Amino acid sequence: MSHTDIVRRIRASELFCEQIYLAGQWQDSEQTIAVDNPATGEIIGHVPVCSDAQLAQAFESAESAFKQWRDYTAEERGRYLYAFFELMQTHEQTLAEIMTLEQGKPLAESIGEIRYAASFVKWFAEEARRAYGRVIPAAQPGEQIIVKREPIGVTAAITPWNFPSSMITRKAAAALAAGCSMVVKPASATPFSALALAKLAEKAGWPAGLFNVVTGNARQIASAMTQHPAVRKISFTGSTATGQALMRQAADQVQKISLELGGNAPFIVFDDADINAAADGAIAAKFRNTGQTCVCVNRFYVQRSVHDAFVEALRARIEQLPMGDGFNPENKLAPLINSQAVEKVREHIEDAKRKGATAYTINRPEPRANFISPTILTGVTQSMLVCQEETFGPLAAVSCFDDEAEAIALANDTPFGLAAYFYSENTHRIWRVADGIEAGMIGINTGLISNAAAPFGGVKASGFGREGAREGIDEYLETKYLLFGRG
Ligand code: NAP
Repeated sequence: MSHTDIVRRIRASELFCEQIYLAGQWQDSEQTIAVDNPATGEIIGHVPVCSDAQLAQAFESAESAFKQWRDYTAEERGRYLYAFFELMQTHEQTLAEIMTLEQGKPLAESIGEIRYAASFVKWFAEEARRAYGRVIPAAQPGEQIIVKREPIGVTAAITPWNFPSSMITRKAAAALAAGCSMVVKPASATPFSALALAKLAEKAGWPAGLFNVVTGNARQIASAMTQHPAVRKISFTGSTATGQALMRQAADQVQKISLELGGNAPFIVFDDADINAAADGAIAAKFRNTGQTCVCVNRFYVQRSVHDAFVEALRARIEQLPMGDGFNPENKLAPLINSQAVEKVREHIEDAKRKGATAYTINRPEPRANFISPTILTGVTQSMLVCQEETFGPLAAVSCFDDEAEAIALANDTPFGLAAYFYSENTHRIWRVADGIEAGMIGINTGLISNAAAPFGGVKASGFGREGAREGIDEYLETKYLLFGRG
């Protein structure tokens, strides 16, 4: 099937929606935003720039929906979520195609993301029933202390473009399982995946106003979210700078907030590691989504005696990664989200070269400005931009270290603390290093750490709050304590 036919088929799908979804209605607005395909530059569709009145309607309807939804039994809420999960499975291919069209990632990765996104819906459908409170021995005879867990209220989410579906389900499924309603603002580069989820919410029979998707001006929407009195919780995934701004705004109403922000993940290879396993893990942890994940490795630290062997094993594997349009099943690397993202990678390479690093680029066809060939940098030092900032692209920056203490110090030499990885076969070392690294998530002898059963989130400038696992639903629950006296 030609590319044009694929686009035509996706656009004709009932899941491809060019309207916003609020109060159970599909709505237009006067202005629109064009959305392009990063692989070709062609405009694939338009979404509304929602108005203040529409935002107000979204929050009001979310408030009405919350007042009813919170009284559904946990089992009923789980059933609604499960119906949505089944629809995600039924429509997996279309959801994945919409994602590749607007985000660019290889179709196999989009299918992987849809399954990952659906896994949160299933997880929280089950977790709804486990929002337990507790009974505490009281201080006085005859008294009872009861601790209840209650839904926090109307919630709002702002999500990024690199995982257009899973960043939404990871928040929304937890919120709905807890008994909350939600208004979501997806990234302007990838709104169609979000609107497709809204279509599935409608098909699953979710009550009007329970799940709303609004598109448009990020600042305007963020202001509305932080100023509307019904909104009790904001969940944000994106850059640290935006998260900081949002946190300041949320302070006005003392809204609860959770922030999943940028990372700068280290990947340490010790001399006792299985080098081939480490190189396999490095490919998964560095090149998934063409390097555009917040848990992507940014800095490789390799013990001097195994440095050359590791770099060679990495290079050999990168040679096996063709790059191109995500709809071609051969391609493992795809375009970056836009040309500014490519410019940032180039800046990191040039800065490192100027400061003494050596660059080895595995040349691939670069049909337009959004494509950049994978590169390995060796001789990297901490003063280089690539060690200080998240690259978000297919650039593997490698430094040497001599001993364990130095490796831990280098890994922690960053304001960020989202993910970290290390490879070692020495059990004592594994415990020491795991204790020493400042990060919310650590992959030990693995390059893939994300799954619905595990608490995802960071420390330091990578934010706070957790998504997935039991902790994910806690973010949407308030604790209420009741003291029963003797009367
Ligand atoms: P971004 O600019 O912060 O955008 C993320 C979201 O915030 C988008 O929906 C964006 O809307 C919105 N936004 C932009 N300016 C805003 C403002 N002033 N107030 C409120 N919302 C605003 O981040 P990005 O560059 O697109 O995303 C990549 C970053 O996200 C990376 O740093 C990555 O590490 C991080 N990330 C973190 C995680 C995690 O779980 N920790 C996961 C994925 C990504 P528009 O699109 O309309 O501008």
